[in-house]
Amino acid sequence: MFIRRWLKENHPRTFRGGVHPPDCKSITQDKKIIQAPLPETVYVLTAQGIGTPSRPIVKKGDTVEKGQVIAEATTLISSYIHAPISGKVKEITFLPHPVTGARTHAIVIKRCDDDEWTNGINESVHINALSPDDIRKQIKNAGIVGMGGASFPTHVKLSLPPGKTIDTVILNGAECEPYLTCDYRQMIERTQEIIEGLRIIMKCLSVNNAYIGVEANKMAAYEKIISAVNDDPNIKVALLKVKYPQGAEHQLIKAITGREFKPTQLPLEAGCTVYNVSTTYAIWEAIRWKRPLIERVVTITGDGIENPGNFIVRVGTPIEDLLSMVGLKKGVNKVIFGGPMMGIAQQSISGVCTIKGTGGILVTRGAETWEPRACIRCGKCINACPYGLNPSELSILCEAQKFQQAMEERNLMECKECGCCTFICTSKRPIVHLVKTAKFDLDRQKKRIQA
Ligand code: SF4
Ligand code: SF4
Repeated sequence: MFIRRWLKENHPRTFRGGVHPPDCKSITQDKKIIQAPLPETVYVLTAQGIGTPSRPIVKKGDTVEKGQVIAEATTLISSYIHAPISGKVKEITFLPHPVTGARTHAIVIKRCDDDEWTNGINESVHINALSPDDIRKQIKNAGIVGMGGASFPTHVKLSLPPGKTIDTVILNGAECEPYLTCDYRQMIERTQEIIEGLRIIMKCLSVNNAYIGVEANKMAAYEKIISAVNDDPNIKVALLKVKYPQGAEHQLIKAITGREFKPTQLPLEAGCTVYNVSTTYAIWEAIRWKRPLIERVVTITGDGIENPGNFIVRVGTPIEDLLSMVGLKKGVNKVIFGGPMMGIAQQSISGVCTIKGTGGILVTRGAETWEPRACIRCGKCINACPYGLNPSELSILCEAQKFQQAMEERNLMECKECGCCTFICTSKRPIVHLVKTAKFDLDRQKKRIQA
């Protein structure tokens, strides 16, 4: 009995399915966070993530100061955007979005020498004096969005729908995506600020139970956090097994609380809400210092980079500036926004710039030699799918362009595009690509019918 309880409490927790890609984090895990040089020009997209694009409120020729609002939220699911640098608006144009590839409005600002904050922000605030509504309002004003990938507006996530309650806040320190170390470095270098950010979230949601989930390949961060929260009975630290996608909301909640919910549901249905480490730091900055979200830590890594590291990068920095800062080796064949599992390979880097959700840029070398083959029904992908789907059937239906059937009979829309199936596939089938294409086509059909 005692042994069983000891094992339960001390063994890293996990979930069913998943894969074990090489984590490749040693390239940058010991590189301290440093400030990247300020870009001469930034290209700030008005669509930073999920939700309605923001509306520009500046025009060509306007002078803007760092932190000034340059685009406002247009609907409930939309966010404010602030000038990442001081300077002059050169133009408002269209540029490719690094995640969706769609041409998106971009506010182009040419930098001046001044890098001071605009009036009314970067002021010290007494957190204890703020009400939950004050916190939500300030987070909205600061343009905070989820920085773990989807970039959903954080003030919306902090406003529970009527009739819904949660009892647990989870801070996601898993960072299970290979290569990326921006969250790990922040957990080590910004420990206290992140824990304060978590307390701000708990206060805003009136929840007094929180967990910080950290994967077992980040022991330095785990120990730093343990000693920082030691005297707080409301915050517990959960050691998680190193497995991909341990940091996805469903898998994180299952591993930490044992609760499950459908792939199409939100964590709310399990009484939980999950925040990424970078977002939590941005929340602390917004509340403690009234600072808007204009920069973030980005891991620039891969075997194609001369000087990889973790850099503080202003939103809208051209990727070409960053790659010339770190230096490229010969033979680079791929530039990916994000990590190798869920990141997006860029067709061209010209005109591509960072957004609030850019946590990593991975640059690789060497030619890919594999050719996709027919499915041999080995079943490995079925065992790996953390959502209980049948990727083999999904890929066959999508390949045959039977998208409707894939949706109705094989739950296409429940696929989170985590990439476990593609990674494990014996026949090297591009399953995620096939799924994405199918979803895109179904979405286009739906829009056509609505129009
Ligand atoms: S990409 Fe989709 S089908 Fe493949 S393992 Fe992930 S959730 Fe399952
Ligand atoms: S892993 Fe690949 S080859 Fe094996 S069943 Fe799945 S899709 Fe088919």
